[in-house]
Amino acid sequence: MQRLHQKIALITGAARGIGAAIAKAFVDQGATVIVTDIDHQLGSAFAASLGARARYLPLDVRDETAWRSVMAEVLQSYGVLHVLVNNAGITGFERGVVAHDPENASLQDWRAVLATNLDGVFLGCKYAIQTMRKASQSAKLRGSIINISSRSGLVGIPAAAAYAASKAAVRNHTKSVALYCAEQGLAIRCNSIHPAAILTPMWEPMLGQGDDRAARMHDLVRECPMQRFGLPEEVAALAVLLASDEAAYMNGTELNIDGGMLAGSVLRPVPKS
Ligand code: NDP
Repeated sequence: MQRLHQKIALITGAARGIGAAIAKAFVDQGATVIVTDIDHQLGSAFAASLGARARYLPLDVRDETAWRSVMAEVLQSYGVLHVLVNNAGITGFERGVVAHDPENASLQDWRAVLATNLDGVFLGCKYAIQTMRKASQSAKLRGSIINISSRSGLVGIPAAAAYAASKAAVRNHTKSVALYCAEQGLAIRCNSIHPAAILTPMWEPMLGQGDDRAARMHDLVRECPMQRFGLPEEVAALAVLLASDEAAYMNGTELNIDGGMLAGSVLRPVPKS
């Protein structure tokens, strides 16, 4: 039996990277998947490559009106939503290296990261709860909201302060959502996943295409106990677990997937000489 048989799942930022790997794993496990993103060309082509149980809908997670219309479309097409993966996220370095430290980051750059990483998750949780509540009135629904946070939500990151703050807030909001749904008597679980160093296009601005690319990659995982980047498919495996009914008693919890980085204290701050 496939682990997500007949589940309807929506994934944000799923045109590539971790979101795309989750979409593929969900389809492989029997779910019907709504791939959403702001890269419409890539998103539609990717959804088409997954076959008949996947479709693409445009969704900028910062846009509340877009959330309303996507959820209305989901209810109209399927009558139910079982799983939401709030995956879309940005580092703030997409257009090159800008100051993201606590002293020099601009308010505009800070807000841009929080708008996607935190407002986007807030809106996703809000509209998933409303949609799942509607569906649960007619059917016995077991919902799962999965928020993709980060190792950066558990430790400070001086050079990426907005990213770290946003991911820490996602970790905490996950717990508020889990408790709220339980208080409301809704069978909706909410958990967070905390990846670190997963090799996706997100790293490209930091790796570059120069001769030093291999050295940079090596450098970035030097202090990872497993000495390698993780794979998007390895994160997707955790998302399958949390989406499935096997995880029926997992609620408000956090799962780290980081090659062992958080197990020790090797990632200490190093003063610049
Ligand atoms: P990618 O950059 O590879 O993919 C993210 C996708 O989200 C892109 O398709 C991007 O579109 C899309 N996106 C960006 N902004 C929005 C938005 N406002 N609304 C909808 N979609 C949007 O990232 P990853 O796959 O690496 O990361 C996925 C999640 O995992 C993120 O939340 C990230 O913070 C988290 N994470 C990743 C880690 C890693 O090492 N890779 C480690 C820890 C956490 P476009 O390309 O057009 O911008």
